Amino acid sequence: MKRLDTQLIHAGEPEPRVRGAVVLPIFQSSTYESGDAADYHDIRYLRLNNSPNHEVLHAKLATLEGGDAAVVTASGMAAISTAMLAVLRTGDHIIAQRCLYGGTHALVTGDLEPLGIETTFVDADDPSAWAAALRPTTRLFYCETLTNPTLELADLPGIAGFARQHGLVSMIDSTFASPVNFRPIAHGFDLVVHSATKYLNGHSDIVAGAVIGRAALIEKVRRKLDHLGATLDPHACFLLQRGLKTLGVRVRQQNASALALAGWLASHPAVEHVNYPGLPSHPRHARACELLDGFGGMLSFELHGGLDAATALLGSLRIGIDAPSLGGPETLLSLPARSSHAGLEPSLRRALGIGDGLVRLSVGLEDVADLRDDLAQALG
Ligand code: PLP
Repeated sequence: MKRLDTQLIHAGEPEPRVRGAVVLPIFQSSTYESGDAADYHDIRYLRLNNSPNHEVLHAKLATLEGGDAAVVTASGMAAISTAMLAVLRTGDHIIAQRCLYGGTHALVTGDLEPLGIETTFVDADDPSAWAAALRPTTRLFYCETLTNPTLELADLPGIAGFARQHGLVSMIDSTFASPVNFRPIAHGFDLVVHSATKYLNGHSDIVAGAVIGRAALIEKVRRKLDHLGATLDPHACFLLQRGLKTLGVRVRQQNASALALAGWLASHPAVEHVNYPGLPSHPRHARACELLDGFGGMLSFELHGGLDAATALLGSLRIGIDAPSLGGPETLLSLPARSSHAGLEPSLRRALGIGDGLVRLSVGLEDVADLRDDLAQALG
């Protein structure tokens, strides 16, 4: 088997190449000549997620994550919602990690709950809480590799094992890690979801998602996606395929820069606390060393001056940009309480460790010395 950096470039690419083209062209066609499709889902029609641009991405992503199959979707939320709806029905119950991306939290509480699908939020690091939450109707255990924005790292192999033992589907959002830093299927997870908007595409120019797993489960997800219609456009497929080729070099540089900035911030007098799994002060640093190939390009921190100091910092940046999202070449900073997690009740946010002044930093691909100088002048 080829190694990850080679897979990024070559896995899933058509053989023979289309008219010799080294880069797969964009098939901007909504429909294809009728073949001998035996089944509705095999008809060659763009919404059915089977254009040449889709098929290459599906094969590439399946290889990268070590799954049998994959589907790409029109956004990360489309990947999460479609995968959940593919495995859940009314009356089912979800066990979910307490601190999740705000959009996922809103989906399970605001959209699935009214459909009769209840969720119990648990401390994903406490196996006794998982067992206490278990019901006869529990069908899904949902967690994130590194939580957004607090960078918690749960006992992920333990969660996958617990799910298998109790006949649950284990699903993990691995957006923050990317397959460069962690491959959940090798640790027992059934379904991996990504906001491909972030590291997988890596250029802050599309929204996209992906679901990877065993063939039978992914076929269920693809059929649900065919009905819900959250298909990724071929032009966005092309951009995602292009972005994926450089995932390894990008993420390794972001890992290195984030580790350097996290250490520097942790010793800065204006900084109260830094959340980063690569720092020995992180409560799960030993586990991060064991499970992850890199600690990632995301970190968060609190300033002694709280919200006022955080607002002043974001207003004083010259290189970093005050914007939501992550995983691109540009360094982005945001206040999760006002962006990704604005939809959560303030009391719940605080209980999850998301203070109003918590700053989330997505380290980009700029020179790390310039990023440090920018933070230094802005903190000053
Ligand atoms: N999962 C995580 C961890 C995210 O940070 C995000 C978006 O910020 C999503 C999922 C949703 O992805 P998208 O915005 O592509 O729908």
